[in-house]
Amino acid sequence: MSVRIKTPNLDEIFEKWKQKAARSDRKKMEKQFGTKGAVFSLDVISAAEYVKDTMKEAAIYFAIKKSLGPAPTGKDENLVTAPRVGREQFYSFKGGGKIDKEQWKGDEKVPQFESIQAVACKNCRGKGYLENKCKTCKGTGKIEETFTVLVGEEQKKEKKPFSYPCGACYGTGNRTEPCKECGGHKNMYKYDILPVPFKTVVTGIPVLHSSAQTKYEKEIGEDLHNMIEDVEGIRFSDFKELESKAEASLGYMNKNISKTIGAARSDYKKYEKDKDSQITTQIYLFPMIQMFCETKRGSKFELYSLGSGNKFMTYSNF
Ligand SMILES: [Zn+2]
Ligand SMILES: [Zn+2]
Repeated sequence: MSVRIKTPNLDEIFEKWKQKAARSDRKKMEKQFGTKGAVFSLDVISAAEYVKDTMKEAAIYFAIKKSLGPAPTGKDENLVTAPRVGREQFYSFKGGGKIDKEQWKGDEKVPQFESIQAVACKNCRGKGYLENKCKTCKGTGKIEETFTVLVGEEQKKEKKPFSYPCGACYGTGNRTEPCKECGGHKNMYKYDILPVPFKTVVTGIPVLHSSAQTKYEKEIGEDLHNMIEDVEGIRFSDFKELESKAEASLGYMNKNISKTIGAARSDYKKYEKDKDSQITTQIYLFPMIQMFCETKRGSKFELYSLGSGNKFMTYSNF
């Protein structure tokens, strides 16, 4: 046996919205519903006159607790030249406490100063330079020339070798060049990009699914999270029960509501499986009335109620 919940009466919803709207912006109400030359009164604004269409919908709500904290794991490594180490932005968390994720501005993984390590350059084996044969003297250290010498009285031409030390390698036959890999700095530098040590924070999160296509889902969810006692719904301990009793409890059903129940159920299952989440409430089913309205001036707006005839909240894009 399930108990049917009493849906709020259209006039009650309209009245509650009207009072709320007049409290927040009476001038706008007067502009949209007033009559020129007549004294403006809220009493003459009735649902019968301004509500053009109504849909019976439903919303499903539950709340979860989620641990927010060190989400990213593992480390990334970078290997760069000495001048490029200085161009990286390093962070240090040494000795400090855990970081509040809400306050943190920046990436979730950052280069950590304490992890910087020198690694001998592989290309030059840590020498900073490479030794190559001198190209000018082909590694001999000498420049060889052949002079043509005029010999004796006859001045007979004779070729004679002559050599002198190579000026490019100072006669050593070798030339050193800075290593292109490390730029002559001998070392490369390695550092870790590690997750920021976030504090684990447990927060409550409202989860709302509604069959009315409203942009207020987030707002309604948050309101329910804070004022769940102010709205009356039907509570279920699992979706199997909700599915079997939804229609009887609401007194109506439609395709969108069935779809919404399905979507809420898969969401619920996802949270059940997630080890960082914990479902903290029962599952609530709320009647939701969607009203399509038009003001005296012809402006269209929508009005929603959430909850039973005893306790409900209203939302509007008026
Ligand atoms: Zn090198
Ligand atoms: Zn040389």
